[in-house]
Parts: sequence; structure tokens; C-alpha cells
Amino acid sequence: DANKPIALVIFGVTGDLTRRKLIPALYQLCKDDQLPAPLHVIGFARRPWSDEKLREELTAGIMQFARTKPVNAQSVEELLKMATYIQSDFQEPEGYNRLLGYLEEKGYQKVIFYLATPPDAYVEIIQNLSVCQRYAEQKQWVRIVVEKPYGRDLETAQNLEDYLHQCFSEDQIYRIDHYLGKETVQNILVFRYANGIFEPLWNNHYIDHVQITVAETVGVGTRAGYFDKSGIIRDMFANHLLQLVTLTAMEAPYAFNESSVRDEKMKVLRSLRPMKGKEALINTVRGQYSAGEVNGKQIQAYLQEDRVAPDSITETYLAARLHIDNWRWAGVPFFIRSGKALPVRETEIAIQFKQVPLSLFNWKNMAGEAPNVLVLRLQPDEGINLSLGAKIPGPINEIAPVKMEFCYQDAFGSEPPEAYERLLLDCIQGDQTLFTRTDEVIEQWRFVTDILKAWEENPVKSLPQYLAGSWGPVQADKFIEEEHRRWRRPGS
Ligand code: NAP
Repeated sequence: DANKPIALVIFGVTGDLTRRKLIPALYQLCKDDQLPAPLHVIGFARRPWSDEKLREELTAGIMQFARTKPVNAQSVEELLKMATYIQSDFQEPEGYNRLLGYLEEKGYQKVIFYLATPPDAYVEIIQNLSVCQRYAEQKQWVRIVVEKPYGRDLETAQNLEDYLHQCFSEDQIYRIDHYLGKETVQNILVFRYANGIFEPLWNNHYIDHVQITVAETVGVGTRAGYFDKSGIIRDMFANHLLQLVTLTAMEAPYAFNESSVRDEKMKVLRSLRPMKGKEALINTVRGQYSAGEVNGKQIQAYLQEDRVAPDSITETYLAARLHIDNWRWAGVPFFIRSGKALPVRETEIAIQFKQVPLSLFNWKNMAGEAPNVLVLRLQPDEGINLSLGAKIPGPINEIAPVKMEFCYQDAFGSEPPEAYERLLLDCIQGDQTLFTRTDEVIEQWRFVTDILKAWEENPVKSLPQYLAGSWGPVQADKFIEEEHRRWRRPGS
């Protein structure tokens, strides 16, 4: 039974995610002999492609995006030889009947439905998949993978969850937040729970504050239409950033398994101090990039981008101060920020430890940075570093900041695998630890929807602007400096 083929039905097989991420990840798993059973891709989308054309296109995607090169033709053949295309609009029940007919004709015992489509198509597909419910009832081994965003606010998320649960049980639903598939994100837990030395310090006795940064250099580009309806809060904050907060702040799970890890993450989400009304306004700063230059490349102002409303107040930068009201974190603010058109591409979690109670030495070359910061660098230059004060050699007692560094590339000699490799394999093997559970999704949206409501009820005509290539609006600097702290300058 273990060797029976798995049918992977990809809705949106002609799209960008399938081409750039899903198929190259499957290819890598196939090539490295990690797939527990043969995998047959069944594509579903609108374009008039044939089976042959599907194989050609997916092969071209592998050639371009495979993580390890040169590409092994035999593995490509092995992965795609059974690939089949079903051309249909998502609205057409007839297309789903053809899909069901095909699955039955081939006698597949194991099926994964993957929604790699625009999010507004999810409910429609799930409703139509009830056509396949018969399949789900007869065969136990059925899973569905949903890409973020799962909803736009609490209400739409709840609605999507209801539809999902009408057709599937929670243990069949895999909600992907691809950040959790990143090696470095999993390493947050390994770092915390495989090493005894930091955990005793990991609390409000020793930590001053935490800064989490997801900085992107790109503007909104071709995704402008989608982005203008979402903003950073929906695109980054409601999922990736809150997930990073939970992993940083959670208590030790009793085991590294799906229920225990996700239970602990849930407790953090429940401990977040709600940001209703005025609380949301004083604890967030929004901004929009104006024209500027990033890494020598001109970026036009957000409001000038195609398909962005000229009076848009969608934020391309968001900074927020979160409070986690529990014993471990009371009094330790979490400063979170994410933006587009910033000077570097960098994702990091910085734990700023408290300073010594009395300074005996003169600091030199500080550039305003306090020592004793532990930085977990999630991308692109994956690693961990800890900054310390060290004596500058010489007769005077002067201290300078130095770093202890761990770098993935140097330590392990290779780049970490792609997030989708791990996540697809976990889904095939039925491990949900790295997928977001329904209660997490709802709790994330409950928190974020309060902020969205507060913004809506206190409308502004325009947002603070920041030059593309700068570190965000000046308001964001003031926001943190009010508390006698400073934003870090990652990557510098
Ligand atoms: P995309 O390039 O726009 O692809 C959309 C796919 O859906 C295409 O295959 C399209 O088929 C199909 N489709 C749309 N409407 C259809 C309809 N009415 N009937 C049949 N097929 C239809 O989108 P994407 O970038 O791949 O993103 C897919 C999902 O992944 C989104 O939820 C996105 O948020 C998420 N995601 C994407 C990335 C990424 O790197 N791209 C990363 C993380 C998450 P045709 O073109 O043939 O009509």
C-alpha cells in the first residue's frame, strides 16, 4: 500500500507558484529519492493546454528554478511522465466531474488537492469539491492544501474555515505559511530548546525588547492590483510576522509534535494584548513609499504604480508594538516591522538583552547600537549572531561591540533547502506540525481585524511617505525612540 501512487491535483497549475516553487520542490524531492511513493501531477486551470504542453511548461519551470543544477533529466521524466491536464474554469461543475472520473478511472487511493489559485477562488473550488466528497468518504487518504491568505479579516476567514470543515476534517487540512517551512524558522525552536544556555534568559528579567523585521527591497511591481487590496497587514503581518512572534515567545512544548507545538503557539496568540480603537492607533505606524532608488534601481512611487488607486491609503510599510500579557513577557515590547522598497532584503529576529546595571567602561564605535543583541537571521544570509562588548587592545579601557557568528553556509557547506520541499514532504507524510491550525488562523485574524477596524473608523486622507530605499517613515523612528529604543539597521 505504501507504494501506491499519490495523485496531486493542483488547481492553478498554470500559475506562478506552481512553476516557480511547487514543481521545482517536487523535482528536488524526487531527485533526492525522498518521495515515499510515486507522485502523479494532475493539473487544473483555464488555459487551453494539452498534457504534452503541461509537461513541457513544468519541465521549463524546473530547468529555470530547480535549486540544484544541472537538472537530472531522468528525475524530471520520472516526476512528470504521468502528468495530466484538466482544462476547466473553477466555476464549471463539469470540470470537477471530469476530474473525479479521472481519479476513479486510475483508481487512486491517495489524493492531495492543492489550491494554488487566487484566494477569491478558494470557496468556489471547495464547494465544487463536494463533488469529490464521495471520493473523500470512500477513501481515507485525502488531503487539501491551502495557500495563504486564508481570508481578508475575521469574518471571511471564519467563512472559509466553515467551508473547509464542511468537506474536510481538520487533520486533512494543510494551511501553508511557507515561513514555517524555512530551515531557519524551524531553527528558532531548535536554538531555544536544544540549548540550555539561553532559555533561562529568555524572559522579562533579562530581555529588554524584541525586534522582528521583514524588509523587502522590491516595490509591489506586477502584484500591485492584489497588494492594493491587502497591504502589509494582510500580506505579511496577519500570517508570517505573527507566526514569528509565536515561535519566539512560546513556552517549551512537551514534544515536537503537531498538537503540542501548535497548542503552545496558540497560547501566545491568546496572550497578545488586543489592539482595539485607540490602542491600535498608538501602537502602529503606517507608511507608503515615494519614488526613490534601491540598490541602484529606480522605483516609482507607490501611488504611481499601475493598478494602485491614486488616493490609496494601503500601507507598504507597517511598524507595530505588541505586548504579550503573560508572566514571561509582561513589560517586554515586541517591535515588529515590515516594508517594501526598503534598503536591504532581510528577515531577522533580534533579541535585545538588558544592559548591565552600571557601566564601568567607555564604549567606542557603538553607532548607537546597544550590545548583547542576539540576532536570528532568517534570510538571505541565514545564521545567528550575538553581539558582545570587548576590550579594544591598548592601555585605555575602551570597549567596542564585536560579534560571535554562526553562518549556515559555512557550518554546513550548503544552502538550506527550499521551504516548499519540507512542507510538501510533510503533507505527503501526514505531519501537520509546520502548518497553521484553524484556531491559530482565527486568532490571528481576530487580533488583526481589531486593528483594521480601528483604522477604518479613524480614516486618514493619506499615509506618511518614505523615500524608496530608506528605512521607512520618520514617524516609525519617533515611535520607537519615544521608548528610548532604536530600530536596528539589519544588513549593515
Ligand atoms: P497566478 O500566477 O495568478 O496563478 C493563478 C492560477 O489560477 C492560474 O493557473 C490560473 O489559470 C488559475 N485560475 C485563476 N482563475 C481561474 C478560473 N476562474 N478557472 C480556472 N483557473 C483559474 O497566482 P500565483 O502567484 O501562482 O498564486 C497562487 C496562490 O499562491 C495565491 O493564493 C498566492 O497568494 C499564493 N502564493 C503565491 C506565491 C508566489 O510566489 N507566487 C507565494 C506564496 C503564496 P489560467 O492562468 O490558466 O487561467
